[in-house]
Amino acid sequence: MKHAALELLEKLIAIQSVNLHYGEGAQGEMEISRFIEAYCLKAGLKVSRQPVMEGRDNLIIELRTGHPGSVLLFEAHMDTVSLGSMENPLEAVYRKGRLYGRGACDTKGALAAMLVTMETCAAAPELLSSDLVLCASVDEEHAFRGLLKFLELDMPVSAAVVGEPTELKIVVAHKGCVRFAVHTHGKAAHSSVPHEGENAIVAMAEIIRYLADIVTPELASITDGLCGPATLSVGTISGGDQINIVPERCTIQVDRRIIPGEDPIAVMLELEEGLEQFCRAKGLRHSVEPLLLDYALDTPHDSPIVKAARDTAERIGLQSGIFGETYGSDASKLQGIKGIPSLVYGPGSIAQAHSREEWVPVQAVEEAATFYVELARAFRA
Ligand SMILES: [Zn+2]
Repeated sequence: MKHAALELLEKLIAIQSVNLHYGEGAQGEMEISRFIEAYCLKAGLKVSRQPVMEGRDNLIIELRTGHPGSVLLFEAHMDTVSLGSMENPLEAVYRKGRLYGRGACDTKGALAAMLVTMETCAAAPELLSSDLVLCASVDEEHAFRGLLKFLELDMPVSAAVVGEPTELKIVVAHKGCVRFAVHTHGKAAHSSVPHEGENAIVAMAEIIRYLADIVTPELASITDGLCGPATLSVGTISGGDQINIVPERCTIQVDRRIIPGEDPIAVMLELEEGLEQFCRAKGLRHSVEPLLLDYALDTPHDSPIVKAARDTAERIGLQSGIFGETYGSDASKLQGIKGIPSLVYGPGSIAQAHSREEWVPVQAVEEAATFYVELARAFRA
């Protein structure tokens, strides 16, 4: 007999929920949220909607069991990236132990397993020592506005499990990021008399060398046992208007990944200071524009949720070690902004997320559902 989580996952894949940010044809999360709402109401769960943007609501699904002092939050996003060039992205297809479809791995597999967990626990609430909340959020694939809105509720939460593809590894740490733009400001002149201008592209070349040769090598020593070293990457460059004009502006966008223990605001300030000093010494005119600051995840290894997760995994024969990742998730917002001990756990691999061939191992979806149910029953704040 097919596992309930797989049956549900097939239906979730069939409902297109491409993040509206990804342009034409994207349907957003409304239809999938209606389906999930109906599913949860049928299971006897309390469901409420939290409007985040026009036509885009978080679903907050509650199972209150009389343990308000110990609240376990499950969180998974409902949106996906664009359908891209996937073949039959909305049709769940089984092949060689894998289930293919857009969102199968990121992150409808985890979402289906969490929904089945809520349903299973609702049928036997006496086995729980905690209240359970599931937040099915919007907009993770673009700007995390769903989860950030949920945090505004200030709902008491003791610990959280965020559903993303971790290959069923208990992830307690991952990197955060500091993204910023650097602009250089020059002076336009006709290219036949370049000495009358100031070339913003040439100035930027110096800044890029500074970032690559001075800043980047220093990052190798800033390293985390689970996540590896801090890194820096210059991702885009643009500048100049036409070939016969000395360019008066140039812009790069830079992505600095931070590790647990680094504060994004402090890192941003340090980068700004370094650039300021360098540019002053070289006589370059520049400005810095912060774009996105995101915390690293750094959940204490001895927190009750980590212990419960490790014990549970060991008991049911799954990997019980703790792991770090290089990519980010909603978990770092829960922990960084609200101090909620959080871990990331789900079926599938990040290697298949966002890709042309998105799939999730069938067995991993079943195991994730078992793990979430057993964890919900084992956890106590
Ligand atoms: Zn995801």
